[in-house]
Amino acid sequence: MTTDCLFCKIIAREIPAEIVHETDSTLAFRDINPQAPTHVVVIPKTHHANAAALAATDPLLAGAVLRAAGEVAQAEGIVESGYRQVFNTGAGAGQSVFHVHCHVLGGRPLSWPPG
Ligand code: 5GP
Ligand code: ZN
Repeated sequence: MTTDCLFCKIIAREIPAEIVHETDSTLAFRDINPQAPTHVVVIPKTHHANAAALAATDPLLAGAVLRAAGEVAQAEGIVESGYRQVFNTGAGAGQSVFHVHCHVLGGRPLSWPPG
């Protein structure tokens, strides 16, 4: 647990969240400010700042996050209609919580390229 990390506090159940999926190494919960009918955030239970840092330090855990994200999409029923997995990296790309997280978005048409 990293002090003052919002997502570490959700993992520790110090801050409530609507948890939809959990494994030994990952947690997934609904985003508090959803950008699509399905908007779930998937995180590893250990603190890494972003996807690149996670993959460099623990590639197996990076894989576990991707696997969990796919299982969330399946459970949410958005595989057939299509969904997006997003790792914002850096404030300039919209990252506001510096504990790596995969946004799983779906349930509506998603335009490409993103804005
Ligand atoms: P980022 O902007 O870092 O890519 O994504 C962080 C996400 O965390 C945002 O989509 C934001 O809505 C979400 N978020 C911020 N605070 C909370 C919270 O307390 N609970 C939940 N469930 N999501 C949060
Ligand atoms: Zn953290």
